[in-house]
Amino acid sequence: NSVFGHVVRAPEDAILGVTVAYNKDPSPVKLNLGVGAYRTEEGKPLVLTVLQFALICSSRVKEYLPIVGLADFNKLSAKLIFGADSPAIRENRVTTVQCLSGTGSLRVGAEFLAKHYHQRTIYIPQPTWGNHVKIFTLAGLSVKTYSYYDPATRGLNFQGLLEDLGSAPSGAIVLLHACAHNPTGVDPTLQQWEQIRQLMRSKGLLPFFDSAYQGFASGSLDADAQSVRMFVADGGECLAAQSYAKNMGLYGERVGALSIVCKTADVAGRVESQLKLVIRPMYSNPPIHGASIVATILKDRNMFNEWTIELKAMADRIISMRQQLFDALCARGTPGDWSHIVKQIGMFTFTGLNSQQVTFMTKEYHIYLTSDGRISMAGLSSKTVPHLADAIHAAVT
Ligand code: PMP
Repeated sequence: NSVFGHVVRAPEDAILGVTVAYNKDPSPVKLNLGVGAYRTEEGKPLVLTVLQFALICSSRVKEYLPIVGLADFNKLSAKLIFGADSPAIRENRVTTVQCLSGTGSLRVGAEFLAKHYHQRTIYIPQPTWGNHVKIFTLAGLSVKTYSYYDPATRGLNFQGLLEDLGSAPSGAIVLLHACAHNPTGVDPTLQQWEQIRQLMRSKGLLPFFDSAYQGFASGSLDADAQSVRMFVADGGECLAAQSYAKNMGLYGERVGALSIVCKTADVAGRVESQLKLVIRPMYSNPPIHGASIVATILKDRNMFNEWTIELKAMADRIISMRQQLFDALCARGTPGDWSHIVKQIGMFTFTGLNSQQVTFMTKEYHIYLTSDGRISMAGLSSKTVPHLADAIHAAVT
């Protein structure tokens, strides 16, 4: 008799489980729109050309990194998100630590807050990326939600958002998607961000930005960091978790960064010393390979430019998939208003399809997506758009 005999089988992850089901399907027309990974027009994973250059130039050192990771990588990552001319960086008020992609950065930030911040409540948008609840709960924070999405307009429930943040207890932490909100594809406008900023600062709410898609939303790294930079420009404090999974296509390298912007350099130094105590017993120090590739690209002007061109091309292809899918549904006369497909931003479209319709599309059309009706636009191509449009048309009629 096994000592683990009582262990019950856990359900598959809501997002990664979609791929498990997809892999089992023998159909030649099957389509995986579940996981948020970029695919080419041919449906293939993309290794950016600039990565192949960077690989040749990047370090072959395989020694341990310091607990906080590669120094150059950290400095350049802060510059990338906060801007080259950020006063917070100039004043040494930012501490940045290399972490295991976006997920690891969120987790390290959350563990630090649970230990050292006076408020243990974090507000996350409703809905949000499914992993947020688990990351923050396991780190010891208490998770509450704020209104975000309005199913009626398939846009932002701005009034509800302001009301919920307005009634949050002073000092509460607020998780904000820096851009390309997952799963809804709905972002506040810059004017709305400004109102959110004023409200949060007036109530002393602490912003924790999740930046998993910088450059992927608009094609511009600077435009996609505007929300974060507004909050840093006012001199206040915040956290930011960055991921290079999508924007450099480094998914499996697990390379990201956590930055904490503080009021003074002295506080930032003490915060960093405590971040080390979070990281050391968790995984000791981060992996070297991905970070040295990223640092190589960020530090070389030519490679950086090459990267921005490839990044823009990925963003543009996704935007063009939105238009093609919208046009295909219009051409079929599919009932309903589908304009949200072209209005939403980033990797995902929150279609509004319900779980029965999703089940139907999977069963009859071999199209795999999460049960909340989210589709990864990056997994589509001109060749597969008609198949998806047929499936959506059949699901709603
Ligand atoms: N936050 C959001 C909103 C995401 O969509 C993702 C990726 N799916 C992440 C964080 C983190 O991803 P990773 O750990 O692969 O960087």
